[in-house]
Amino acid sequence: MFNEGNASMNGLLGRKGANLAEMVNLKLPVPQGFTITTNACRRFYEEGKIIHPAIEQEILEALAALEHLTGKRFGHRENPLLVSVRSGSSISMPGMMDTILNLGLNDETVAFLVQNEANARFAYDSYRRFIQMFGSIVLDVDGNLFEEELERMKLNSGVELDSELNANHLLTLITTYKEIIVRETGEPFPQNPHTQLMMAIGAVFGSWYNQRAMIYRRIQKIPEHLGTAVTVQEMVFGNLGSTSGTGIAFTRHPSTGNNELFGEFILNAQGEDIVAGIRTPHPLSILKESMPDTFEQFRKAAHTLEQHYHDVQDIEFTVEDTRLYLLQTRAAKRTAAATIKIAVDMANEGLITREQAIMRIDPASLMPLMQYKIDPHADVHVIGYGMNASSGAATGIIVFDAEEAERQHRTGHSVILVRQETTPEDIHGMVASAGVLTTRGGVTSHAAVVARDLGIPSVVGCESFKVNLAERQLHTDSIVLQEGDVVTICGSTGRIIHGEVPLVPPTFTEEFCTLLAWANEYKTLAVYGSVNTPQEARFARKMGAEGVGLCRTELMFMDPVRLPIVARMMLAHSKRERRKALHKLIPLQKQDFLGIFRAMAGCEVTIRLIDPPLHEFLPNPATLALEIERARVAGDEDLLEEKEALQKRIDILHELNPSFGHRGCRIGITYPEVYEIQTRAIAEAALELKAEGITVYPRIIVPLVSHSREMKVVRENVVETLEQVFSVYLDRIDILVGAFVELPRACITADKMVEYADFLTFGTNDLTQSTYGFSRDDAEGRYLAYYLDNNILPENPFSVLDVDGVGELIKIGIERGRKTKPDIKIGVCGEHTSEKQSVRFLQEIGLDFISCLPHRVPSARIAAAQAAILKTRKPK
Ligand code: PEP
Ligand code: MG
Repeated sequence: MFNEGNASMNGLLGRKGANLAEMVNLKLPVPQGFTITTNACRRFYEEGKIIHPAIEQEILEALAALEHLTGKRFGHRENPLLVSVRSGSSISMPGMMDTILNLGLNDETVAFLVQNEANARFAYDSYRRFIQMFGSIVLDVDGNLFEEELERMKLNSGVELDSELNANHLLTLITTYKEIIVRETGEPFPQNPHTQLMMAIGAVFGSWYNQRAMIYRRIQKIPEHLGTAVTVQEMVFGNLGSTSGTGIAFTRHPSTGNNELFGEFILNAQGEDIVAGIRTPHPLSILKESMPDTFEQFRKAAHTLEQHYHDVQDIEFTVEDTRLYLLQTRAAKRTAAATIKIAVDMANEGLITREQAIMRIDPASLMPLMQYKIDPHADVHVIGYGMNASSGAATGIIVFDAEEAERQHRTGHSVILVRQETTPEDIHGMVASAGVLTTRGGVTSHAAVVARDLGIPSVVGCESFKVNLAERQLHTDSIVLQEGDVVTICGSTGRIIHGEVPLVPPTFTEEFCTLLAWANEYKTLAVYGSVNTPQEARFARKMGAEGVGLCRTELMFMDPVRLPIVARMMLAHSKRERRKALHKLIPLQKQDFLGIFRAMAGCEVTIRLIDPPLHEFLPNPATLALEIERARVAGDEDLLEEKEALQKRIDILHELNPSFGHRGCRIGITYPEVYEIQTRAIAEAALELKAEGITVYPRIIVPLVSHSREMKVVRENVVETLEQVFSVYLDRIDILVGAFVELPRACITADKMVEYADFLTFGTNDLTQSTYGFSRDDAEGRYLAYYLDNNILPENPFSVLDVDGVGELIKIGIERGRKTKPDIKIGVCGEHTSEKQSVRFLQEIGLDFISCLPHRVPSARIAAAQAAILKTRKPK
């Protein structure tokens, strides 16, 4: 029973059940009921999808207790008890599992509801909805069969809305629905409420494994074994007339985080109408105006809940003839911006501590805040407005269904999914989309809730637009868009804009800056940026990077001017030819070094000597073949000769597995002039800035070393070059030389490696490739997806650090490195450095710094602060 539970029993009762129990304990107005536990759900599956008789017996006992509490009797024609049967796992999965309302209605009990003429419509509508829900969810009848009959009835009766159907229409519909059930299942619609109840409970348990729930769990990494609880709760009716209604409210704004009660309400409607986006709701003020006392009671209850849970609540409620009932409360899903504002505000209000504020932020969820926004000065062609449901701007081609969204996304398109309203079945399409646009529904509709959860921009309820699915068109009175046309949506203002528009970099709120400043007070890991240009270095520093952990010099060459020169250098036959190409490149690179050092004045800047996987720099063989053919046809002998020579050279240099090919320090050892000239550029840039009075701390790092002798050779060459530069400039500067540890052998022999390395940086991208023997480019598109879908690997090891394998190698590297050089500085570069679990592990094993892309620096700072907080909180 609800009064036997509390909020901490979330695992057993599911979040909904546990919170209903807690609300009962808080003496808030909650319809009575009971919860069937997640243990019972697991048992249901163990028994082969059967409710064990002992559990059935307990359910019947609970039902008897509920009858006693409510004074109503299940299946009784005088004052019958009607219930809702709802799912609820310990981690909320909005709309992913099934719900059945109005259970307990049958041909007899419906008569009780028909007390007068006005109620007849309500009674038959409730019964009609129940048969429809029960038929499609429990009896597995195709839901469209009911929908078609409903549409036909509306057409024949000359009405447009469901609510315009009268009692007689609904009565006829009930008969038709029952016939559908006999026809489709061979059995009549069950009249016995006990049978209805047990079947409904089984179906709700069964919905744990429906397709949308499984997809949602996979995306959200919710474990299979949790199972769902089922709550059985006395029905209250929001569709009893103009003094009834149903609403959803947030104790603070879920999009902005502003401290104001925010929500939506529909008069004379049942709970599912809002969530399903079937009717566009009104703001909460309609409740305040029409039933001020009820509103005031709700406002107080909402405040009580927020104070009690120390977090923003998302509350579902129903008003039955001016009486308020709370049906659900849960921590509200919110945008990243709102998460930050709420956490900082609550810490400032004293509701939570600063530590709790930091711990509430999922570092990955900050990414939308790093999104660019629509340039406010841009000339845009606004073609419509909707509600601003999830912030950020997105540009893409419009598509009209989830499958097409997935298909277009796979071929590299940015996609805006356009639907009348989304349903839980659309989840895979939403995941593949850059933005979601709906023509119906409000800011608490499915589309809005899921978009916020996924961190993608969304505009909902754009009622001036109509979707024409048959023609694959979206149109207003003034414009017709075809599938594939480009639009931009602004989830912050609700604008729909024709075509692509200029975007501007993000700006940060006061609360965001406060939170990041708090993070710095806790974190002990230094957070560096991985940057390749002066512009990126400036951005990284603005984001709070404390230096540059990695500058990938080969990426500095990835522009149309430099790339052909690099290709020439790589393809050179002789040292002379190579030097010639290098002499063209290095002045350009030196300018970049000057810019980066300047942007990072006073901080360490680690520059990696070139590490070019050959295939990324050479002309595409197919394109080259085409060019040769063209030269031949055109009779251009010189060009033909040049291109053929190039082709021959590429053939010679061709590698079967370039990821582990002639790259990294192997280039610097076989072609020492490459590293020599780069070292010269680094040292010259540093000394020139020193002469200007700017403090620089340049570091050089040697990529892809596997043997300490590689490190020895490169180091000696680097030091010799540095000395030459120093003697020319008549000045010196400290430049440490470190080893980039990205191969297992380098980890295992770190004790020898550090004899020639002043610092160590682990490159977890290549270290993951080389530990698993996965070639990332191939793996992610092929078998790795299968591995993840089939739970062969729990996570993508390129996103979440593989602690047992790769992590163990890092631990060995640290331990052995520090055996020889106890104070050596050690860090990690690689994509794992802003992911919370990975950062936590890196903190535990005693690293000094992490380095990540500039726009991930804020996430890394939060992750590092969380790791430090968790470390000190750990029981001894
Ligand atoms: C790494 O391998 O982890 C790394 C940072 O280098 P890159 O990603 O450039 O190979
Ligand atoms: Mg690497």
